[in-house]
Amino acid sequence: MALIVQKFGGSSVANAERVRNVAGRVVKTYREGNDVVVVLSAQGDTTDELIEKAKEISEKPSKREMDMLLSTGEQISIALMAMAIEKLGCQAVSFTGQQVGIKTNTIHGNARIEDIDGSRIRAELNRKRIVIVAGFQGIDEEGNITTLGRGGSDTTAVALAAILNADLCEIYTDVDGVYTADPRIVPDARKLEDISFGEMLELASLGARVLHNRSVELAKKYNVRMVVRSSLNNHKGTLVKEVNEVEKMMIKGVAYDKDIARISILAVRDIPGVAYRIFKFLADAGINVDIILQSIGRGDTKDISFTVAKSQLTETIDLINRNLDDIGAADVSFSQDVAKVSVVGAGMVNHPGVAATMFEALAEADINIHMISTSEIKISCLVRTDEAEKAVQAVHKKFRLGESEQAEEQAG
Ligand code: ADP
Ligand code: ASP
Ligand code: MG
Repeated sequence: MALIVQKFGGSSVANAERVRNVAGRVVKTYREGNDVVVVLSAQGDTTDELIEKAKEISEKPSKREMDMLLSTGEQISIALMAMAIEKLGCQAVSFTGQQVGIKTNTIHGNARIEDIDGSRIRAELNRKRIVIVAGFQGIDEEGNITTLGRGGSDTTAVALAAILNADLCEIYTDVDGVYTADPRIVPDARKLEDISFGEMLELASLGARVLHNRSVELAKKYNVRMVVRSSLNNHKGTLVKEVNEVEKMMIKGVAYDKDIARISILAVRDIPGVAYRIFKFLADAGINVDIILQSIGRGDTKDISFTVAKSQLTETIDLINRNLDDIGAADVSFSQDVAKVSVVGAGMVNHPGVAATMFEALAEADINIHMISTSEIKISCLVRTDEAEKAVQAVHKKFRLGESEQAEEQAG
């Protein structure tokens, strides 16, 4: 007998028929003799619709109340799922994050799980019930409801798998697994049999929303066996696992992220400590900074540009404007017309040709690069938003990622 955590995303539970379909899958796993913990997202576009509702009331609602609102979507799914499973003759019980003691820090809208009290779930499993938990939510130390960031149900599932020492964590979604690029953008993208935690973490962090990046972080940390597969068929899916094959150069995939904005702080004094002051202000405000570019000084000033998530743009601009004198800068500007396109693959550090190949692909597609950042496992380029899809297609094609792995190695 095994303990299996099964997570189903929004599209997998979008309507009554899908809920019944998922219930059937869960019951099948249970009847095969397994303990099953189910983690659910809100149905279909519910979370987006809730965000729209908030906008109708206020342009800048408090983050606490946003979390109160958004957490309701998952509560609907879990109750409906418990009913559907009971209808199939099995006992099920649904719980909110709070009810199963998912404790997080206090960062509303992007909270991190700090601790989970698994005792209630274990007790219910011992009573031979199927346990259904609302994804994406927890509570902070003062009992406020928090949410884990968009796509955060994956993280709930992996965290539960870790704490319960589950044998397997299955992430069910609306595609067959992890592909070399978003299959909706690149029709000939290839499904990967497996992918390393490191590569998956990069892909997820760089915009491949098939997995929440923190879920991959947690799976790596606690060595959770994790599979991504479709809730609509029985295809095998993609195994995310630990591998040490860095010798071999292998581009695993292309990802893009439109949810970013570029900020430039202009005419900053060219003296020691300036970057520290800027990024300390941002860090203290919980603002995550991504690509950073500093120009070479002109006279006694320089410009510093960086990217942040779109959702943090206004907050970042306000913060910098309030502190322009302290920072020692003349002005701040921004652009939302940017997207980040990245290639990911282990072993890149020893293969200098990868960057050139990516730039060549973009040049051939007549796409201008605004900022570049590299690491040993990825190369990212900032391009115009409306060119993101074209860039992904061009780069995917240039690296021949749609072909067999052998061809892919030669291309690299
Ligand atoms: P869920 O609601 O099940 O959590 P998501 O919409 O969050 O589903 O994630 C699945 C989607 O991720 C797919 O429909 C696909 O369009 C997108 N996606 C982006 N990059 C990839 C990739 N490399 N492989 C697979 N899917 C990807
Ligand atoms: N419902 C949340 C969202 O749409 C969490 C999730 O789906 O994982 O972001
Ligand atoms: Mg998701």
